[in-house]
Amino acid sequence: MRLRDKVILITGAGSGIGKSTALLFGQEGAQVIVNDLDVVKGQETADEIIGAGGAATYIQADVTQADSVSQMVDQIIQAHGRIDVLFNNAGISGVGALHELEPDAWDRIMSVNVKGVFLPSKYVVPHMMERKSGSIINMSSCIAEIGLARRASYAATKGAVLALTKSMQVDYAAYGIRVNALLPGTILTPFVENYLRTSYDDPEAAIASLKTRQLSNELGRPEDVAQAALFLASDDSKFMMGSPLYIDGGVTFG
Ligand code: NAD
Repeated sequence: MRLRDKVILITGAGSGIGKSTALLFGQEGAQVIVNDLDVVKGQETADEIIGAGGAATYIQADVTQADSVSQMVDQIIQAHGRIDVLFNNAGISGVGALHELEPDAWDRIMSVNVKGVFLPSKYVVPHMMERKSGSIINMSSCIAEIGLARRASYAATKGAVLALTKSMQVDYAAYGIRVNALLPGTILTPFVENYLRTSYDDPEAAIASLKTRQLSNELGRPEDVAQAALFLASDDSKFMMGSPLYIDGGVTFG
């Protein structure tokens, strides 16, 4: 087991990539702290881990709210004494060219996708600094590196997360904390299915067209990203610091 006894907080673990990662981390022996805004989905993930013989706790918190995040971190420290790995995964989508976007929608996506990385990190990092150990995984996207039509706000958030990752790594390297970023391509999750349903008249045709952009000719699965998160969470990646890790079927460099 590659994560035996590690205490791991995953935000947005009620669905998609976060859920898949939580299930894998449970199988690998971690004490998984499942966070999600959605109580039903978050509790379901924790129950599935426990049902499969793993260890998990669900904590409801909104990653955009300082009090909510700070209370969640306090609760974990009281129960387990430490957080070994933080996976900042929670995120929302945004569709539209810049001139089409409403200011409120811009603020909302910035809040969930960027402040939602800042706040959990802010409250977890001091505990990692004290122990001189920790791994933080930030969810960016290959859209931080390539231009895609009508994704301006979403791309801006994921570029910000990549820049934040590098800054965090420089600030905390001396404390034994590693900070790396995941850059997935298109992964078929509820998030993407919803985006395709609301943005295209023919979602199946849109999927077919997306596939042609991939060197793999296939879209990704949440499990593909979960395996990459496992690598960054485990000590196997101990020489990776401030790095972007692409899980994109070749779309970024193809
Ligand atoms: P998803 O919608 O399936 O899951 C996201 C989860 O985050 C949901 O369960 C949601 O309830 C939760 N969440 C949303 N706002 C929250 C908040 N304020 N506080 C706590 N939880 C909150 O999405 P997914 O596709 O699994 O995406 C997960 C992450 O991966 C996101 O950051 C997304 O931007 C990123 N990503 C996804 C893809 C993709 O193709 N699916 C590609 C690149 C990056």
